[in-house]
Amino acid sequence: RLEVRSLIRRFEGRAVVDDVSLSIEAGQVTCLLGPSGCGKSTTLRMIAGVEMQDSGEIYVDGKLICDTVFRVPPERRQIGLMFQDFALFPHLSVADNVAFGLKGARDLKRARVEELLNKVHLKRFIDGYPHELSGGEQQRVALARALAPRPRIMLMDEPFSGLDNRLRDGIRDDTLSLLKEEDAAVLLVTHEPDEAMRMADEIALMRRGRIVQQGAPYNVYTRPADKAAVAFFSDVN
Ligand code: ATP
Ligand code: MG
Repeated sequence: RLEVRSLIRRFEGRAVVDDVSLSIEAGQVTCLLGPSGCGKSTTLRMIAGVEMQDSGEIYVDGKLICDTVFRVPPERRQIGLMFQDFALFPHLSVADNVAFGLKGARDLKRARVEELLNKVHLKRFIDGYPHELSGGEQQRVALARALAPRPRIMLMDEPFSGLDNRLRDGIRDDTLSLLKEEDAAVLLVTHEPDEAMRMADEIALMRRGRIVQQGAPYNVYTRPADKAAVAFFSDVN
């Protein structure tokens, strides 16, 4: 379970993230949806721990991981990351890429790698190398790698935007079912309403650093809070 309370981040006096609060249960997907520059990635980076907030607190499964004085380092937050350009390690095999964040006995790691590659339908590539895979396949391996250490939280920043339309739907569906099986709390950034409608249990609309509306996709879509929210959804079909 991810809980974020009153996060604020200022750059040159301007609050680019301005009092953002969110809570996401295990097994649930919240889509953070909003126009370019509204502060989505900055919010994710603070939760990941690669950027420091000016104020506010972050909790994972009820435990404080970051406020303005206390800070758990990124690698100990039990948070998995997936970004559009989060590349695989080219010199490592597919198996070693997926095993990268795993600790423990060799055979246990191998079993986890096989389990995940099975789930993303790429077991046949286990001893292959990233350059032998298509973009969509690489993205599935990146998902397996992020989920391998069983993160409690998954942060995804436009993970599908580098893929062509033909591939995207299939990968979205597979990603969603794997995220549900692994029972992570997921915060997925997108600026595509269509993607949010497909994947989200909750949508949080963000604008100029603030969450202006939050709720179930159907409710946000049918009862947008203001004109800007209407405009935002006008291209969903
Ligand atoms: P996009 O959809 O284009 O990815 P975003 O919602 O992810 O946009 P952010 O990357 O969070 O937007 O940026 C929010 C604002 O904060 C932008 O105006 C950006 O220029 C500014 N910003 C982000 N990081 C810094 C920084 N390190 N220094 C100064 N300004 C920054
Ligand atoms: Mg961004």
